[in-house]
Formats: sequence, structure tokens, C-alpha cells
Amino acid sequence: MKERKSIFTEVVHADHDISQNHGALSVPVYNASVFAFDDVDEGADIHNYKTPGYFYGRLGNPTTAALEKTVTKLENGDSSLAFASGMAAVSAAIISLTASGDHIIALDSMYSTVSNLLKHLAESFGLKVTFVDATDPANYKSAVSKNTRVIWIETPSNPLLNITDISAITNIAKSDGIITIADNTLASPFNQNPLDLGVDLVVHSATKYLGGHSDLSAGVLVGNEELIRKIYNKGVKLTGGAISPQVAWLVLRGIKTLALRMQQHNDNAYALAYMLQSHAKVEAVYYPGLEGHKNHEVAKTQMRGFGGMVSFDVGGEMEAKRFINGLEVCANATSLGGVETIVQHSASMTHATLSNAEREKAGISDGLIRMSVGIEGKDDLIHDLENSLSKL
Ligand code: PLP
Repeated sequence: MKERKSIFTEVVHADHDISQNHGALSVPVYNASVFAFDDVDEGADIHNYKTPGYFYGRLGNPTTAALEKTVTKLENGDSSLAFASGMAAVSAAIISLTASGDHIIALDSMYSTVSNLLKHLAESFGLKVTFVDATDPANYKSAVSKNTRVIWIETPSNPLLNITDISAITNIAKSDGIITIADNTLASPFNQNPLDLGVDLVVHSATKYLGGHSDLSAGVLVGNEELIRKIYNKGVKLTGGAISPQVAWLVLRGIKTLALRMQQHNDNAYALAYMLQSHAKVEAVYYPGLEGHKNHEVAKTQMRGFGGMVSFDVGGEMEAKRFINGLEVCANATSLGGVETIVQHSASMTHATLSNAEREKAGISDGLIRMSVGIEGKDDLIHDLENSLSKL
């Protein structure tokens, strides 16, 4: 059993051994992509992974390693890899763990660039993909075939905050030797640890809550040594989506306040969702912390908090646009997980690449607003939303 401290402590102290860096409390940024050796034998040993060390920036850097160590701790894994974006992490995992003819089961309502990547790999590289309604584990079970290699989970999902029962899925997968990968971006390790529920690999768009300040792009994978080594040897070495050390440092700095930020994101999001659910101009609210949410009971068993994302439907495209244009505190932008509250019209932004039929199947209506609730004062946010809704 690994020793676990409070996440409030781990976010501050997990990154490095200060004795290695002259006592510097902040991990230094190693602005280096090339590392020299004392002699040829040492060079060969490091190059061939017989001795730990660094030799080339795309394949490792001490600042990046500090970030990997931190996220490994926060997700209670064995090992991690950091990438230049969430999509670099996602694509490295998929291309490393699957081959032509293998089958992946994913969600019919999820972050659209991941579903578009799976469709591209199916059309051009012979991957087999089945998209299922992930709110019922029975759908995953009935989609399993003898060549199923990976089950993809995203919970809460983007943008509808659907909840998948992680333990139910890992039980299905384990009995058939299938790898489970969970995108934990929306929950963050503060609210949920999928590895503790039997998942094999966790992915994060660190662009979001881990970075937390809308100022960088990054991604991370966390899992057991064997899977991480496989992904390093294929996805990392062959496609080169390495994070820069400067960005790795920025993510590390963001993580120091992850727990404090998430506490406020959780509180604010609950308050806004609670207000919206009884507002006359709002037709539906999607937030796993509300008792009326379809999978609230499952969310309660696997999440410590319900996160900072709230989606809601104001009836139609015209209402959605008028509502967003009428906001004064909240910004109209894509992305999520930053300190500022951001709203977007998903049908015309992140999910515009889906066909109308796919959008309908994914439940992304024309009136849907996705809101990444920030850490501002709760009353200011409530006032901003109520003020804009009153003009509809
Ligand atoms: N996974 C989820 C759930 C996301 O929302 C996103 C981006 O929005 C990604 C992965 C991709 O991350 P990135 O934009 O850092 O490549």
C-alpha cells in the first residue's frame, strides 16, 4: 500500500526532492534538450535505459520528470508521461496500445476530438470502434467482442456531465483482459482517482484543471509501469509529442493550488447548478452533484466532489446566443478548468465537427450551454447568470 497524504499536502510537496536542487523550493526549469556524458560507456548505458539519466529532450527532462512524479502521486499510479497537449497524450496511448483490427469501445457523448480521432483511425487504419451510451455499463458489456482491446471512459463526460460507473466497467474489462483508459480531465485528481477503481490508465488534458490558469497546453498519462513503458517506447518515441520543460514547470506551479482551486470550483458549480435547476428560463441542468442527475448515486460512490463543470439548456440556439452575449463577468470562450468562468455554445464550437445526427445522438442540443465555473465570488456569478437569463 502506497503512503497517501492529504491531497492538500501532496499538491504542494509531491514534485521533488529539494536536496537535489540546492534546496530550491521550486523545481528548476532545465532549459536543456541535450545532455552530455562522462564517457562513452555512460552514454550508451543511459541511452539504452540501463542507467537512469537524460540524453535528449524529446525523451526526457528533469523538470518534466518532476511533473510526472507529481501527477503519479496525485493519481495514485506507478508512473506517468507528460505531453504537449491532452490530444498528444490521448493519441500516444491509442496508437501504442492498439493495432489494426483491434476493437475499442467508447462513449457516444464525449469530447469530440477524441471521438473524431477514433473515427479517423477506424476509417484510415483499420481500428474497429463502437460508441455506446456510457451511462449504463450493460451497453459496454454487450459491445465487447473477442478483439476488444480498449474500453475508453470519460466521466464526467464533456459536455453533458454524464457519469459512467467506473468499477462496473473495470469488472467487465478485467474478466476479458481488456485495457481500460479513463479521461479524468473534468473531475481532476482532487475529485476522483480512477486507478483506485481498477482503471489501467488515466489521461488528463493538463491544459484544464491541472494547469488551471488558461495559459498553457499540456497532457498527462498515468498508469502502471508496463503500460507506461509501452507508450513511451511507441507513442512518445515515434510521434514526439513531448511537453517543453518551461510548460512542465507552469503545470507544476498550477498544481500547487489545485486543491484550493477545486474546492472553490466545486462549491461555485454546485451553487450555480442549484440556482439554474429552478430557473424558469432553463429547460434542463446537467450537474452530477444534483440529486436529479441521472447517475447522481453512482457519482456519489466514485467522486469526492462533483467538479466545476455545469451544462444547461436554455431552449434553442437564439436563446443560447442571447444568453451568452448578455453575460458580463463570465467570458465566452472554449476550453475549461481555468480560474475564470467560461461559457460556450457547444453545438457551434467544440462539437461543431459532428454531424447533426451525431450531435443529436450525443444529446448536444442547440440550446445547450457548457459552463466551466471559475473561482470568482459565487454571488457575482449568480447575479451575472440571473441578469442575462432575465433578458431572454
Ligand atoms: N479530454 C477532454 C475531456 C477534453 O475536454 C479535452 C479538451 O478540451 C481533451 C481531452 C484534449 O485536451 P487538449 O486540448 O489539451 O489537447
